[in-house]
Amino acid sequence: MSKKKALCMQCRQWSEDAKVCEHCGYIISREVKEEIEKKEYDRLNPPKPPSKLRKAMEYLRTSKNPFLKLLYYIIMGVWMIYAGIVMVIMYIAAAGAG
Ligand SMILES: [Zn+2]
Repeated sequence: MSKKKALCMQCRQWSEDAKVCEHCGYIISREVKEEIEKKEYDRLNPPKPPSKLRKAMEYLRTSKNPFLKLLYYIIMGVWMIYAGIVMVIMYIAAAGAG
């Protein structure tokens, strides 16, 4: 038997199951824990459609190039103004309807 044992951080006993503690049910495996947390996160926050734009924006934001960083803030600024205008329009539309 080459089954790995894992020390439970919760009850401090050795568990035969390296993923979930056989004594108290504590999730030992980091991967399993992250998996569950991710699922929970996805449940609470429905995944947004993957967009190349987001990646591009992330690239600009984390860029070492000050020009690209400035570009990021300009785009974000424009986006915020746009989002603000949309919100105002939505508010007016909602007020008009009601
Ligand atoms: Zn345990």
